[in-house]
Formats: sequence, structure tokens, C-alpha cells
Amino acid sequence: MGMRPPNVFAAASLHENPLDRAHLLRQSADELRGALAHPEARVHLVWRSKSLVLTEEPRAAFVTPHALGELLDEVVDHALERLLFLGVQHETPTFALDVSHMDDPTDLVATVRGEFSDLRQVGAILPSEDANLMAYARALATWHHNHRYCGRCGSRTRRDQGGHVRHCTNPECSHQGFPRTDPAVIMLVHDGEDRCLLGRQASWPAGVMSTLAGFVEPGESLEMAVAREVEEEAGVRVLEAEYHSSQPWPFPLSIMLGFWARATYAPVNVNPGELDEAHWFTRDELLQAKAMRELRLPPPMSIARRLVDDWLGHAGRG
Ligand SMILES: [Zn+2]
Repeated sequence: MGMRPPNVFAAASLHENPLDRAHLLRQSADELRGALAHPEARVHLVWRSKSLVLTEEPRAAFVTPHALGELLDEVVDHALERLLFLGVQHETPTFALDVSHMDDPTDLVATVRGEFSDLRQVGAILPSEDANLMAYARALATWHHNHRYCGRCGSRTRRDQGGHVRHCTNPECSHQGFPRTDPAVIMLVHDGEDRCLLGRQASWPAGVMSTLAGFVEPGESLEMAVAREVEEEAGVRVLEAEYHSSQPWPFPLSIMLGFWARATYAPVNVNPGELDEAHWFTRDELLQAKAMRELRLPPPMSIARRLVDDWLGHAGRG
């Protein structure tokens, strides 16, 4: 059976993603100021673990620079020090601002009928261009929050280039830090025929079963990480891993690299520190359990769900 997965999400996102990150523009403070002065310029706000969305429809919400009031003066006086430049979307210069220092940012959003929501909860119902932009803003804000001091010498750092670099302020050190993304692998384990392996973490709601996942360790290839995680969590041996697609996962700073992993069909030996349970399912068993509501799959926009759905869909063509 040909098992090459269609890479639907990666292809679709390349066609659909209208954000130009404008990396040349962000290197000039003058151009950044010009972008901020653009009549359509907009600022997406991040507050603590939440992101600004419209109250009446599931879309990313933005305020005008003007609506930021005194906060904007502060930002511009410090050469855009606190503003994060995301890029240009639909010819609109787009920024993000972390307002986590405010106890209550409600007044800031009075002009937009917006509210702060957890991207993890609303992400699944947002259009992908909005979800991507908000993931970007949130990951960048988190990285800045975590890197206010130099990891090498402990001095303060300052941001530059619209938030795409931090410089150590100690002239003897001058270390530069760039926003990081932590790679994590997520894999649909299958036996090359009609069975896949799904598991459940103790913290998940009852009935939810999903793909296995874990962080890539230093010195490890992605394929090695896939095999190690499956062995550690379920005691099953992976024979080959094939890349499927990816998804930014800014909770806090990851990217999920999705694989289909062909494994030897064998009894599952769950590591109780990692999973509550894991089972092999045939396609029919999985569809039936889902129809009978004995089992729930992860939300439709998640890469976990895409890995499972593509594998289920593969049967029809096989
Ligand atoms: Zn330093």
C-alpha cells in the first residue's frame, strides 16, 4: 500500500499566508517609524497568556496606534523599543504590543469591541491567517519576556529591529540573541496496514485520544526523536518516520513537526509517567468509537487531528 501522506496543510498555508515579514524594513528604525505612521497601521495586543480577538466574530483584533494613547508615546520615544513588528499583511503594516504590565488593559480595547482570549481555545475557530499571526505575536512576546537579561553575562538586554533581536548592554559581552523556536515532534504511529496507535495523557479530558508527541533533544535528528518518544511512551518500535507537515505551537515557544511513523505492531506497554493509556485502533474501530462518542479526537485545526484524518482518508484510496 502506498503510504505517502498528502502534505495538505503545508501547501495550503504557503498559498494562503498573506503575511510579508518584511525583514529588510525592520532593520531600519526610520522605516519602522514610517510603517507605524501609515494610515492603516494596526497593532495586535497580547496580554499575559491571552490575545486580542473580536467579540462578535472569531477574528484577530487590532487597535490603531492612536488608540494606544500615552503608551504609544512611550513606545516611539524609545525608538519603538517595545513594539514588535510582525510584517505587512494585505498592505497593512502590522505590529504587536505586549501589555502584560497593565493590571487591566480594558480601556485600550474600548475602540474595537475586542476581548482577550486564550489562543489555545479560540485558535481552532480562527481563519488560519489570523491564527498564524496571533501565534507569531504570542511567541515573540513570550521570547522577549523570557530574555530580558543576557544568558551569558547576566546584564540587561535591549531589543532592536522591531523585536527581532536582543542585544546585551554590556559592551564587553555584546551578545546578540534571536527569537527561538523549540522543535517538538508529533506522530501518527501506524503499522503500515490498518492500525494506528493513539494515546491519552492524564491531564486531557476523558475520552480524548490523540497522537503521541515530545520535544526534540540536543544532538538528535527528528527521526530519532520520533522513535525515542514512541518507545518511551508506548514501548513500540518505530521502523521509519516520514515527514507530513508542521504547525507553530506557541505554548510557549514550539513548532510541532508532524510525522507518520511506521512501527512494528506489538502489544502496547504504556509508561504511566507519560500516558494514561494507549491503544491500537483499526480505521473501522476508530470511526465507530468516534461515532458512538466513546472517543474524541483533537480539534479540527490541530496538526494532531490532521495527521489522524489524513491517515483515515488514506484507506479509501488504498
Ligand atoms: Zn551579556
